[in-house]
Amino acid sequence: TKFIVVSGGVVSGIGKGVIASSTGLLLKMTGLKVTAIKIDPYMNVDAGTMRPTEHGEVYVLNDGGEVDLDLGNYERYLDVTLSRDNNITTGKIYQQVIEREIVPHITNAIQDWIERVSKIPVDETGEEPDVCIVELGGTVGDIESAPFIEAMRQFQFRVGHENFALIHVSLVPDMHGEQKTKPTQTTVHALRGLGLLPDLIACRLIVPQPLAKATKEKISMFCHVASEQVVGVHDVTSVYHVPLLLQSQGIVGFLQHRLNLSGVKLTSNML
Ligand code: ADP
Repeated sequence: TKFIVVSGGVVSGIGKGVIASSTGLLLKMTGLKVTAIKIDPYMNVDAGTMRPTEHGEVYVLNDGGEVDLDLGNYERYLDVTLSRDNNITTGKIYQQVIEREIVPHITNAIQDWIERVSKIPVDETGEEPDVCIVELGGTVGDIESAPFIEAMRQFQFRVGHENFALIHVSLVPDMHGEQKTKPTQTTVHALRGLGLLPDLIACRLIVPQPLAKATKEKISMFCHVASEQVVGVHDVTSVYHVPLLLQSQGIVGFLQHRLNLSGVKLTSNML
């Protein structure tokens, strides 16, 4: 299985879930089987025990699991049926480690969980997925997400470089028409400091203007990635346009090459 981890920086709620689902959908269109895991770094075992004003609405899975709305995005975009284990919370991990009284390596428990769930078939074929999208909730640098970040740092060696790619979603504020790169530079710096190197930097603009070429080049230069590794995701009228937006910037070809994926080449008449 190939793993694509989607992390976020600067602020929460920038559309990480939509970018993760869209990436999964594009890979599915190349003929691959795609599953998804959402990590929510909170102590509650699941979202069902959280006050709705605190968490927002809950999404209910086929097996009764009460989870984050992002799991709904995955089920709709990927046309799959997920189970409660596709949503990892700090509460679930700690509960498992305490109940089993195993040596308390939280980071190992996280990696084992991801490996186990990534193999569970999610469609009627009953076959093991080729790609697992792992969306890490919260933002890099939060104390809550630290064990998961560290688990992912170790995981890239467990599964190998050709099986692990990272998409980091960052905010590019538009200040009266000027697109600012500093928050992205800061969050990518923090990410690298934790031992994770971004393969793609997805720059979210909370305005309808696309990422400017000059901004892209600046981010490429100061975040130490090639300019093809910087993609822009501006505000669109429907979140179902995001897959097209990502495809137009070549992310499928990039990921196919980076992860040595077996799927077909995605052409515009397939979309
Ligand atoms: P996160 O996973 O980072 O918390 P979500 O993916 O849940 O964020 O998106 C947060 C909100 O922003 C959702 O209501 C979603 O519909 C909206 N959204 C995400 N991406 C876009 C976009 N490119 N254009 C417009 N709205 C978007």
